[in-house]
Amino acid sequence: MKIVVKVGTSTLAHSTGRLNIRRVEELVKVLSDLKNAGHQIILVSSGAIGMGVGKLNLPGRPADMPTKQAAAAVGQCELMYTYDRLFGQYGHNVAQILLTREDVDFPGRRRNFENVMGRLLELNVLPIVNENDAVATDEVGVSTTIGENDTLSAIVAGCVGAGLLVILSDIDGLYTADPRRDADARLIPEVRAVTPEVEALAGGTGSALGSGGMATKLKAAKLVMAGGCDMVIANGREPEKLYDIAAGRPVGTRFIGRKDA
Ligand code: GLU
Repeated sequence: MKIVVKVGTSTLAHSTGRLNIRRVEELVKVLSDLKNAGHQIILVSSGAIGMGVGKLNLPGRPADMPTKQAAAAVGQCELMYTYDRLFGQYGHNVAQILLTREDVDFPGRRRNFENVMGRLLELNVLPIVNENDAVATDEVGVSTTIGENDTLSAIVAGCVGAGLLVILSDIDGLYTADPRRDADARLIPEVRAVTPEVEALAGGTGSALGSGGMATKLKAAKLVMAGGCDMVIANGREPEKLYDIAAGRPVGTRFIGRKDA
């Protein structure tokens, strides 16, 4: 199966912005093993800005664009250096793909992206995708950014024709209420359609270093489900759960892709 795995900054880094070494090592080990088992894996990784913040010892996520871009440029290096080194230990080659909105909005450029992804997978490479935060900016009236990696991962899943998108987050899945505030909140194991009622369950939160939240995850779910791809939201705390997720066993919340797509 072709599986896109999206990891957020909260999974990869401590709240200090520095790399969560144990977590990343586990993640790389499991992804390498799934690849050895015959799955094609594409990683959509956040963490460029967060890791740049850590490396540059900045006080927090920068508010101004040039510092944000500088942090992303520094952090993206750190991120790829880490992945290259760790995946290399298991004999896997990685590739870095940095996208802006225009790369997937224009059909010709989107085809180029699809072609390179196809070729990388044929060459048995594990592509690692992120938004090109060092140059992608929003100017007045012109949006050249995708803005967050939940949507980016859904776009990538569509472009490569994935059967499964796994979004690893700092929450176990979609709940009936915010579990951080409501003791009665229950995890919803399966969603067959993202209805307005389901959308109403999404709060607007995100962590201090990342930029997503449940709303962007539901938007991603809608995108991939329409194309026949399943999506799972699960907690990135335990990368080993990816074995169960790939095998179709219940973990987190599974959004079922349209089977007639
Ligand atoms: N592209 C951003 C980064 O690498 C992350 C976007 C997101 O958190 O969704 O820091």
